[in-house]
Amino acid sequence: MELHGNNIIAGELARGDGSAHRATDPTRVIEIDPPFTAASAAQIDQAVSAADEAFDQYRALSDAQVGDFLDRIGEEIIALGDALVERATQETALPTARITMERGRTVGQLKMFANLVRDGSYIDARIDTAIPDRQPLPKPDLRSVLMPIGPIVVFAASNFPLAFSVAGGDTASALAAGCPVVFKAHRAHPGTSELVATAIGRAVQACDMPAGVFSLIHGGHDVGQALVQHPLTRAVGFTGSQRGGRALFDLAAARAEPIPVYAEMGSLNPVFVLPGALDERAEALADGFVPSLTLGVGQFCTNPGLVFGLDDDKLDRFVSRTSALVEQAAPGTMLTAGICEAYHEDSSGVESLSGVAVAARTGTDVNRDKTQSPAIVFETSGTTFLKEPQLSEEMFGPASVVVRCKSKAQIEMIARNLEGHLTGTIHGTNEDLHEYAALVRILERKVGRLIFNAFPTGVEVCPSMHHGGPYPAATDVHFTSVGTAAIKRFQRPIAYQGFPDDALPTALRNANAGGIWRTVNGNVSRECAS
Ligand code: NAP
Repeated sequence: MELHGNNIIAGELARGDGSAHRATDPTRVIEIDPPFTAASAAQIDQAVSAADEAFDQYRALSDAQVGDFLDRIGEEIIALGDALVERATQETALPTARITMERGRTVGQLKMFANLVRDGSYIDARIDTAIPDRQPLPKPDLRSVLMPIGPIVVFAASNFPLAFSVAGGDTASALAAGCPVVFKAHRAHPGTSELVATAIGRAVQACDMPAGVFSLIHGGHDVGQALVQHPLTRAVGFTGSQRGGRALFDLAAARAEPIPVYAEMGSLNPVFVLPGALDERAEALADGFVPSLTLGVGQFCTNPGLVFGLDDDKLDRFVSRTSALVEQAAPGTMLTAGICEAYHEDSSGVESLSGVAVAARTGTDVNRDKTQSPAIVFETSGTTFLKEPQLSEEMFGPASVVVRCKSKAQIEMIARNLEGHLTGTIHGTNEDLHEYAALVRILERKVGRLIFNAFPTGVEVCPSMHHGGPYPAATDVHFTSVGTAAIKRFQRPIAYQGFPDDALPTALRNANAGGIWRTVNGNVSRECAS
């Protein structure tokens, strides 16, 4: 399929009148056709206005219709075939197997939300029937439900060109909630974005959806910012850097009418290797840690960027095995020249710090002209870590710092000083867990997901997953961007007081025609309300 490079606004191709940019093949550092033209101010307005116009029609559709639409998007993505895999591989340098797996995950997420919507209970219907003779005052009939909030602007991350991009988790959960989406294409994978947007367009037509339910917009930061500032935008979904997420959060908060920005951002994902685990399996821990560090050239928001342990001979065994494996690791091609440059700058900055040493680095020479980077493991002391803020900043790539702590008390002090992270990992024995119970309590306040005896990379997509965490891991600690609960970001409660039964939304009527789970006078049931 030949790419056209246009914006896609409510199903129509629209050539932007702003600047044009091309994708870059990171392995060869050459630009690839076609040019993608940035949307004009008028086109940005057209896309958000079309989303707003589509909103009432879209939210009135049945759960079955929305479920079929989501499934159809997945089918259309698969129908793109090799063209999608080839373009995504070319734009990101991620291997074919990884892109194929990510495509499966993307389709799986769409199916998961389709099933959630078909079940109907996601709107959390609550009914409290009237008690007219209650003393001293009568109780009114009150019923509430979660309704979609309106047009959502979504931004993608560069490191998940499918699963966190055009038809990724944010888009799937917003569409499932009943919200139209205006998607700002990531400049690192515009061709992949166009292909997936084309698949969504085909699903819109096949399922007879209102055209404004989805638009794809190209452009730079100015275009993204205009989308966030558009008065009809109701919320923003974002996956990417802390700097980008925070900038858009501040912009949304400064609007005349502030709106939420659900930004999932970078994280260092601290790993604690406790004495019992090191005693039992220091080398095996290194065998698990290094693949987690180097997977995808370390370009995961769940990459283990910090390792803490007591400074003793057991930690020496872990570091020694880690070093041997890191030295053998092949250099990897990063997603973009910008990410590669930032990685080299950040890791050089850490290397120059007093009290920090390089424990190991990829042995083979890296070719910076081919966007390659080495894996690096640094070592430092707990005391240096506590006084050097740069060691708590993300190096986006395959780098990690092993922190040698002098006591259990210092480990706990370090944990208390941590910022918010997506994950926190503990490797230990049952005795360690007992001995370090205070550490677990501290980490509960610092992270969104606590992991025991595993590594943080690999985010399972399922109802109980929580992918978020206290700031700066995310801008809103209450929500996840992965799993069925992600839909809640795009819903809001509305209560109806004293409404006649036939004027209520179907889910709140006494009969419960859809047979959904509801909370009726405090009891969860699928029965009629009276
Ligand atoms: P990024 O540079 O923040 O870009 C994300 C998107 O936001 C892009 O579309 C970018 O526009 C846009 N953007 C960034 N700053 C902006 C600004 N000031 N104004 C308007 N738009 C702005 O992130 P990335 O390079 O894609 O991804 C790498 C980072 O994402 C890493 O730090 C990683 O840890 C994090 N990440 C987090 C998660 C998570 O779930 N928490 C997942 C994956 C990645 P352009 O297209 O114009 O560049």
